[in-house]
Amino acid sequence: MAAPASWETVIGLETHVQLRTASKMFCGCSAAFGAPPNTNVCPVCLGLPGALPMANGLALQLAVRAALALGCTVHSRSVFARKNYFYPDLPKGYQISQFEQPLATEGSLSYLSPDRGIATATIQRLHVEEDAGKSLHDRFPKHTAIDLNRCGVPLVEIVTGPDFRSPQEARAYLLTLKQVLEYAAVSDCDMEKGSLRVDANVSVRRVGRPELGTKTEVKNINSFAYVEKALTVEHDRQIALLEGGGTVEQQTLLYDAKTNSVRPQRAKEASHDYRYFPDPDLPPLVLREEFIAEQQALLPELPAKKRERFVEKYALSVTDAAVLTADRSVADYYEAVVHAGADAKAAANWVMTEVLADAKDHADGLRVPAGALANLIGLVRGGTLSHQAAKRVFGEVADHGGEPRNVAEALGLIQVADTGVVTGWVSEVLVSHPTEVARYRSGETKLLQFFLGQVMKLSRGKADPKLAQRVLEEKLVA
Ligand code: ADP
Ligand code: ZN
Ligand code: MG
Repeated sequence: MAAPASWETVIGLETHVQLRTASKMFCGCSAAFGAPPNTNVCPVCLGLPGALPMANGLALQLAVRAALALGCTVHSRSVFARKNYFYPDLPKGYQISQFEQPLATEGSLSYLSPDRGIATATIQRLHVEEDAGKSLHDRFPKHTAIDLNRCGVPLVEIVTGPDFRSPQEARAYLLTLKQVLEYAAVSDCDMEKGSLRVDANVSVRRVGRPELGTKTEVKNINSFAYVEKALTVEHDRQIALLEGGGTVEQQTLLYDAKTNSVRPQRAKEASHDYRYFPDPDLPPLVLREEFIAEQQALLPELPAKKRERFVEKYALSVTDAAVLTADRSVADYYEAVVHAGADAKAAANWVMTEVLADAKDHADGLRVPAGALANLIGLVRGGTLSHQAAKRVFGEVADHGGEPRNVAEALGLIQVADTGVVTGWVSEVLVSHPTEVARYRSGETKLLQFFLGQVMKLSRGKADPKLAQRVLEEKLVA
């Protein structure tokens, strides 16, 4: 019996991103995370009768910037629409969103797929909307509590085509999306605070089939690790269903991280008939050409561009450039180290190892000033410090500050390149190892490393190794 063609996974992502504003989308309430429940509310975001919404100008700027960073066409006219549904965390009975005429369409984002190299996801649309409140199930036994602080918080929703072929690809895209949005400074993209949330649409089909399979939508994914896990669980479930002769039912599923499984959302929540219509309280959003151009001009160099420039300008590998540009502040720091005079390759190695390791352990940012790191790299290059010693100096400067040279001197780490002193150490080593000297002289020249090790030990790591080796070779021949 011929083995059936294997399965292909198809994934499309809808990502909700909270815009970095102080106030909400349509009222003046604070959009800050973590306030006591139901304190950041007003008649507008509570949906009290007669209250009227007014669009937040900064939120619109940030939304346009996000759209441009993703290569979208920003439309000069878009329309706010009401998405109607009933749920306890939605006091108005509708969410203000955009439907038929979104802010932006037809963008793309290239990312590094673990399976296919550089791949490009299409951005079908990017629209502006407000968040809903939050149901809390863990506050009171057997009761659900509602916190309306999130009601009206500004979001953009970014929708891709069904472009991903594995959970790993979906994750890689999301990491890239987060990088771009962080660079553009439109959101803090903090998944733990709910400022980046993903709904994933998944289907499977036999490899080679052109038509898409029936999809399910997995909600409630709130970490990058879970994106991969939830999608893997769901595509496994669909394949098992289909191989057992069943069919996939179009439905909305919730991911439960505790059990690493998906379960259907209650049916009445899943029956979506949103009865969209233009919001009568909000005029169509009309954006002038100049406004859009201004937002474009405010965008910084984005990660993909920066990566290419680093490869070109500093002769780095693509992988190194990708590591250095993943975070904008790290990329800026790297360039500052190079501008302060450090060799580009050495600076890259230092930033990717010591600097990033230190940043991981300390929340207070990049602790060694760029100029100090450049000086430290110079000391290694000039033979004043061994690489090992320089690492100690780095840690010391990170913890207590100071100039690398002074710190190295205070720690007694400056390499000794004085021929007289080094010759003294060499002689002492040779005198105390007569057997080895004899073996060396009868042809066992690999013992040179042994002698060098002894000299370094005797000098407590301070002997300039190149000089020590030269003196050793001279004395051993004699
Ligand atoms: P809906 O009408 O259910 O919201 P859309 O066509 O608007 O569906 O698509 C929503 C998301 O689902 C998009 O990201 C899209 O790429 C993705 N998608 C659509 N069809 C499929 C499919 N068969 N398999 C996987 N993803 C899909
Ligand atoms: Zn309000
Ligand atoms: Mg849709």
